Order: sequence, then structure tokens, then C-alpha cells
Amino acid sequence: MSIILNETKQAVQILEKGEIGSNPASTLFLLGKYYNQKEQLNTEQTFYKLHEFMEQHEKNYNAALWESAIEDIAKKSAKYSLREIDAIPITQAELDSIAAMTPVKYQKLLFTMLCYGKFYNILSQHNHGWINTSIQELYKIARVTVKYKKDKFLYLNDMEQAGLISFSTKNDNLNIKVNFVDMEGAAVFTITDFRELGYEYLNYIGNESFTLCTLCGRLIKKTNNKCRYCSDCAKIRKNQQNQRYYREKSGK
Ligand SMILES: [Zn+2]
Repeated sequence: MSIILNETKQAVQILEKGEIGSNPASTLFLLGKYYNQKEQLNTEQTFYKLHEFMEQHEKNYNAALWESAIEDIAKKSAKYSLREIDAIPITQAELDSIAAMTPVKYQKLLFTMLCYGKFYNILSQHNHGWINTSIQELYKIARVTVKYKKDKFLYLNDMEQAGLISFSTKNDNLNIKVNFVDMEGAAVFTITDFRELGYEYLNYIGNESFTLCTLCGRLIKKTNNKCRYCSDCAKIRKNQQNQRYYREKSGK
């Protein structure tokens, strides 16, 4: 699951659409925090609201199987506050640092790392550009594919050589520090969605044509004028159409 900048907005959307998503536990955790912190419900009331949400929106919901998990989530809902970041500002100085390095696949990765670095800096002023996101996740969000797995490290090494990032290894985890984060400059544009950071960069530099998924708002490549849905929403729609077709065919 990619980073959610504004959890309050996300929770409102989930409640409006009644969508559990691919990770029910994290959806329930988000809703638990919302019920507790925005609707001022106590642990017991939060427990019942979460249970009710699942009952209404999860097919084949088994209340007994979920009871202890929901109880746990309801208890934790007061402990972690809802994150409310509206946007990550991107400055000209940052874009210049990125543009100095070619090819574009490096720029997409640098932009992605920059967004993560700024996100963690906003969460903690002592962060100074460090990110501990997995390399796999960074490449996925940047939409950069490689022929050989080792290329992923070679690209990052090139960026380190150029002084744009630094490495540190803590507990076997590779941490990356983004060295060109600019927390003071004026925003040239802002990022409000972390699902497609590589595309956001391409869209900004005007390299290719993009549009938004009409169902979930995700940035998608506009390969022709018929493009309307991201691949996830297209799959869900196709399933719904198939179900409708079979229902009508069987006369139910
Ligand atoms: Zn979509």
C-alpha cells in the first residue's frame, strides 16, 4: 500500500464508497482512527462501527473470525493520530538537481526518492532526507523496470557517485538519504498522491500524455482517447459486468 498523505480525506472517501480495498486490516485501522478522532467514538462504539462497516461491505463476512482483530484495532485507534498532510511541495532547485542527471529513468527514481524524503521530513524535522522504503517499492512507484536485478543497485550507485543520494546500512536494511531536498524554496508544483510518482514526474515535464482514472483518480498513461480506468479499476469493472451478465442470463 502506498503512502496516504491525508488519512482523514481517505477515510471519508472509503466511507462514501464503501470500499474495503485489498488490505481490509489497514482499511479498518484507518477507519478506527477516524471514528475515534473525528467522530469522537469510544473504543466500544468504534468496535461496533467497524463491525457494521464490514457487515455492509465485505462479501462473506465472518464476524466471529474478525472479532479479535477488530477489537484490537478499536483499542489502538486512539493511540496513533490521523495524518493530515495535504500536499508535498516540489521546488525548482530540486527539479534542477534531478534534471541534471540523465537518462529519464534516473530522473523518475530521483523524483520518487525526493517525494519520500520530503514526506518523512514533514513527519519529523529531525529526518534530514532519510528514507527506508524498500528498493523494490521505489522502483515500482517510479515505474522503472530493469533487465537484471543488479541494475537496480547500479543505478543507485550512479546517483550516489553524482552526490545526489547517500547510503547507510542499519540492521541489514539499506537506508537512502536524499541530498537535494529543499525545505525552504517556493513550490513549483505539489504532489497530493503517492501512487504514481514516476508518472507524476513525466506528466510535469510533459514527456507523455496522462489522464486520471475516472473511478479512483489514479494517474494513468493516455494511450488513446478511450482511456478511462486504471488497471485495478478496469479489472473490478470487468468482474462487475461479468457478474451482471451471468445474473441476467440465469434470470436472477
Ligand atoms: Zn482507478
